[in-house]
Amino acid sequence: MAYSRTNNSTRATIDTSQLFGSGTFKYVYAGKYTVGARKGQDCVAKEFKSGCVVEDHYFDEELNICAKAQQIIDEFNDAEIMNQPIYLNTPTIWTYEPGSSKSGQKTLIEPMILNFEKFNSNSGWSLTDSTGWAAAMQSLSHFSYDNSGGRLLLCDLQGGRYNDGYVLSDPVIMSKAHSCGPADLGMDGIMSFFQRHRCDAFCNRSWMKPPVLGKAKIPMHQGTTMEAADGSQIGQGFESAFGFVDLLNGMYRDEPSSDFATKLENSRG
Ligand SMILES: [Zn+2]
Repeated sequence: MAYSRTNNSTRATIDTSQLFGSGTFKYVYAGKYTVGARKGQDCVAKEFKSGCVVEDHYFDEELNICAKAQQIIDEFNDAEIMNQPIYLNTPTIWTYEPGSSKSGQKTLIEPMILNFEKFNSNSGWSLTDSTGWAAAMQSLSHFSYDNSGGRLLLCDLQGGRYNDGYVLSDPVIMSKAHSCGPADLGMDGIMSFFQRHRCDAFCNRSWMKPPVLGKAKIPMHQGTTMEAADGSQIGQGFESAFGFVDLLNGMYRDEPSSDFATKLENSRG
């Protein structure tokens, strides 16, 4: 089964008057679903930074990475390493309705995650808590490497705790083929993870690891490290998760100035 948390709705109101959070690649706005099973619940709208909002390529790449991540998470759940499942937020592409200030612009909508926290990054940073979900997430990253025969590493694991399990959002896949977007730091990134990874109670001693030699090539950052066009790495601070937490309390204190987003008729995913 797919352990995914989906929009399950067709319309939302997004407060575009203020940023809700900001990650390495994306701006995040908060909103509420207005039509569908999640009506009244909070959602987020994510947009790519630096004017790439109109390029389908970025959206397609994002959804492809999400589908791959979903497969890894499903297999981790099926392996019954944890007694509660890990879910993945599934974004879909929606378009702002005519009349809104972002009319015609595409955005990625997904359910909001409360109590957002981050467990590891794509440069080998990890939360140093060897118990519970924090440990399970390091183990999920290690599992992904073993389960893919050493081709992939699922990382940048962040999300929120719920009664029935854990919900992740926006993970990164790093690949031997170096083909999973600007946060994929290739084998250098994978090696940097393992140079800093210490197996915990949820890791299986038989899981494969790359031979780790020398120092990690990627400087360690809690935020997501992005690869620039020239191949150099740009480390980022931990804007998004703390931004999420800080902004949660005050977000609906004022009546938001509203823009409308609606689902694309031929929405992918
Ligand atoms: Zn491990």
